Amino acid sequence: MKIIVATGNKNKVKEIKDFYKNYEIYALDEIIKPFEIIENGDSFAKNALIKANAVFDKLSNQQKDEFIVLSDDSGICVDILNGEPGIYSARYSGENATDIKNRQKLISKLNELSLNATPAHYTACIAIACKFGSYTTHGWMYGKIINEERGENGFGYDFMFIANGFDKTIGELDEKTKLKISHRSNGLRNADFIIQSLKKYYEV
Ligand code: IMP
Repeated sequence: MKIIVATGNKNKVKEIKDFYKNYEIYALDEIIKPFEIIENGDSFAKNALIKANAVFDKLSNQQKDEFIVLSDDSGICVDILNGEPGIYSARYSGENATDIKNRQKLISKLNELSLNATPAHYTACIAIACKFGSYTTHGWMYGKIINEERGENGFGYDFMFIANGFDKTIGELDEKTKLKISHRSNGLRNADFIIQSLKKYYEV
């Protein structure tokens, strides 16, 4: 089964490749020239579908017969901030946002509220686009965010997120642990049911 991951985010590609050991996974730039995709949906699912469908539409007819396209739209939602940054997680600090600036903004929001820690969860929507249509699944990871950064593993908000049942941030845990419990892995686990049922139509 050949899968193109519709993202330029190398961390996501690595996690998806590590999770789906049994599939042939390709980063977008291994198959076609990456291009700009406007993510203007108002939910994780809409944005994940925009990405997966945009990439599938760019494939040649032969590639459409051969590949399925998988995308991930994800982010962190903080309860006390009414779900912020949510679908805007990557662009939280505005134009020219970076992971570092996004975390700094979130830390200052917590400090404004005098909070050291507060409930939050990650969401990932996994979308699949293929010759039969498109599909979505979701995965979540619940826990809390803290007003400081700890650890060196992962990316984005991982250094300030502690999953339920743990006392270390995702940044302090090893990659294998994140792969077992993350929102992305939970979404990919659900998406695997769809991929398994599509598989037979792609094998010669
Ligand atoms: P997207 O690429 O538009 O889906 O935005 C994803 C953003 O959500 C990332 O840039 C991170 O800020 C955040 N995010 C999503 N998943 C993770 C994760 O596994 N760890 C840390 N941050 C994440």
